[in-house]
Amino acid sequence: LKAGDAALHGTDDDVDKPEEEEKEDKATQSLLNKLIRSNVVNNTNQVEVLQRDPNSPLYSVKTFEELRLKPQLLKGVYEMGFNRPSKIQENALPMMLAEPPQNLIAQSQSGTGKTAAFVLAMLSHVDPGLKWPQCLCISPTYELALQTGKVITQMGKFYPEVTLAYAVRGHKMERGVKIKEQIVIGTPGTVLDWCVKLKLIDPKKIKVFVLDEADVMIATQGHQDQSIRIQRMLAKGCQMLLFSATFEDSVWKFAERVVPDPNIIKLKREEETLDTIKQYYVLCNCKEDKFSALCNIYGAITIAQAMIFCHTRKMANWLSGQLSKEGHQVALLSGEMVVEQRAAVIERFRDGKEKVLITTNVCARGIDVEQVSVVINFDLPLDKDGNPDNETYLHRIGRTGRFGKRGLAVNMVDSQRSMEILKTYERHFNKKIMRLDTDDIDEIE
Ligand code: ADP
Repeated sequence: LKAGDAALHGTDDDVDKPEEEEKEDKATQSLLNKLIRSNVVNNTNQVEVLQRDPNSPLYSVKTFEELRLKPQLLKGVYEMGFNRPSKIQENALPMMLAEPPQNLIAQSQSGTGKTAAFVLAMLSHVDPGLKWPQCLCISPTYELALQTGKVITQMGKFYPEVTLAYAVRGHKMERGVKIKEQIVIGTPGTVLDWCVKLKLIDPKKIKVFVLDEADVMIATQGHQDQSIRIQRMLAKGCQMLLFSATFEDSVWKFAERVVPDPNIIKLKREEETLDTIKQYYVLCNCKEDKFSALCNIYGAITIAQAMIFCHTRKMANWLSGQLSKEGHQVALLSGEMVVEQRAAVIERFRDGKEKVLITTNVCARGIDVEQVSVVINFDLPLDKDGNPDNETYLHRIGRTGRFGKRGLAVNMVDSQRSMEILKTYERHFNKKIMRLDTDDIDEIE
């Protein structure tokens, strides 16, 4: 009995552990990435194009005009602030808008313009005079479907004849009532119900089928089979499009099952570098010390937006409390928050309502924080065995390509061990990490 008691109380200490064990699901990461992003990701790598028919000319466009879009859509594109097609769009758009329709598998990291591309393709292919579903897009989660729906609404702002329905949980529909919306976006289970059980959609009338976030999709049990079942019901001539941010073998296998005779477009993720980052370290003795060092440089770091990484939830909570007590307005992204709460925190941070975001590694993993120009490692990144973790260090503070803004990284060192770890990072990346005296901060400004 006693032992059982101890085991029960032991759970209180979980907040002390690094958040390693918590699995961040891919859909959450993907959603948070969409929310934190305010701009298209630049990428200097060459786009790889594999044409199904290598003899047909390869078109690429440098302007939206060249695509001969409907004027209402061109207006929508410009209203969204797009001046020219993104790298992936240069090739993907002509392929998707070609006659006869071509199938496409496209892979590029999050933020490179895939969603905007297929949304434009769907809107272009709709016949507004016909009042039934013609384009069908499936997304892995409710939240991601809503996010894509927002893009459809925005881009179609000047094309009000085209309407959109959400096939997501909670959207209760009666059996057999035909829906009039030309574009349907939803999650696989509900879409399948709408096609098979409720017969709200006639799959044979679908002209464009989009499978978004294929890598996230197959991570969920059941979604793969449901997607394939939906795809099997479509007509032969239906255009099939599949998008993914990553391309492991499992995604390929899936892609090839759902997209027959595809064209393939790939854009490799750009390597991150430390070239445009000024790296510093601060010597401290304990967490209180680190906190006062942080207070000393606070003014300098909050000129831009800053992210502060802690090793444990407990530390992140403590630090956020201390900074609040000092009267600083900070945001805390924590593992115990549900996705809606995290999304809200990230949106406020992106909109500049808070200048500082405190988080743990696990919580921020997979989130691209390109626009953040100051990173504080309140605790140095470590792997789960407490060893240096080069990849995480690079991902936290590195920036991609020559478009990346100049950045600043400050590492808090509080022990012999953490100094050794810092030196490992310095050696590994062969980049000097300079000592910063926080009583004399002129050097970083
Ligand atoms: P992905 O689907 O690859 O994650 P998105 O289509 O969501 O990428 O685009 C990422 C961000 O870039 C969005 O904020 C979107 O509005 C913007 N964007 C997309 N295409 C362009 C473009 N051609 N010009 C400027 N911004 C763009």
